[in-house]
Amino acid sequence: MHLNPENPILITGGDGFIGRNLVQRLIQQNYTITVIDNHVTSYPYKIGNPNFRRITADISEIEIDSIPEVSGIIHLASVAAPQLYKKDPSLVLKPNTIGTAKLIEIAKRDGVRILFASTSEVYGNVRWDKTDEKGIEEENNAIVKLLSKRSCYSAAKRFGEELILNFKKNGGDATNFRLFNVYGPDMDTKNIGYGRVIPNFIHKMSCGEPIEIFGDGTQVRSFLWIDEAVEAILSLYFYEGDLPDAVNIGNDEPITIKNLAEKISKVLDLNYRVKYLEMEEDDPLWRRPCVEKIKSLTGWEPKIGLDEGLRIIANSKL
Ligand code: UDP
Repeated sequence: MHLNPENPILITGGDGFIGRNLVQRLIQQNYTITVIDNHVTSYPYKIGNPNFRRITADISEIEIDSIPEVSGIIHLASVAAPQLYKKDPSLVLKPNTIGTAKLIEIAKRDGVRILFASTSEVYGNVRWDKTDEKGIEEENNAIVKLLSKRSCYSAAKRFGEELILNFKKNGGDATNFRLFNVYGPDMDTKNIGYGRVIPNFIHKMSCGEPIEIFGDGTQVRSFLWIDEAVEAILSLYFYEGDLPDAVNIGNDEPITIKNLAEKISKVLDLNYRVKYLEMEEDDPLWRRPCVEKIKSLTGWEPKIGLDEGLRIIANSKL
């Protein structure tokens, strides 16, 4: 691995929810950072540090030669909220395909490592009766809907993964990390009401509006605390050795959406009413990661449970 600390780490989507937390952590550790972000779902975040540079641009439209030499790349740039990409699939198609291809060219040019942010969505609806209660392993076969309202996201991420795999086959240093439902404070602030389930529920409960549950609320998700997601990504980025083709990053603590509402109400001490709405046919019913691979590779494992994470959010709102 080539890590010349003179050159910046390039973080695409570095103003987004995961990106800005990652950038802050690296700046604290005195790394030099260049962020590329188009601010579709984020705002330019005030950093005020000479080691930080921002390029406001769409990663799928950049000129490769305009990016100075980097020491490594973490590619996070993509819309992630289903409500947004279902309306405009190009928000996920372009950054994950054309954007990934361009970043691979930069990684090749500078001889550096690239990490691509993939998603649990690539697994579609796995046969969870075949997972032996272990959670989804990286090698699980997915059952994926084709050309549906949601398929643009998983298709774009899977294509990005293939580009990374091809780069590796040709000697490149890279991995695909698959994130499972990351949450934390100040998430989706630009798109409240279109965002993910936890900010949506907290926002609606705080405003006294009924929360919306799609389907009967028995679908299962596993939520990972933001700081732990950052630590997991960095444990891969700085790992000294060959990286696997794909790695899950998530918390192995499944909960139904109905029970999530109950938990948020209890921990944040908020009353709530529910409006049940029809569920999209390809909304995954069960999602829980197996995190044995990253644990045995880098030693990272999730420790902050949902109760604790929600308590931190509750305290940050006081
Ligand atoms: N969901 C819900 N109400 C909301 C937002 C989401 O019931 O206001 C459900 C959604 O249908 C999905 C789960 O909560 O089954 C998680 O949704 P989210 O958009 O947070 O992430 P996903 O895992 O679908 O990418």
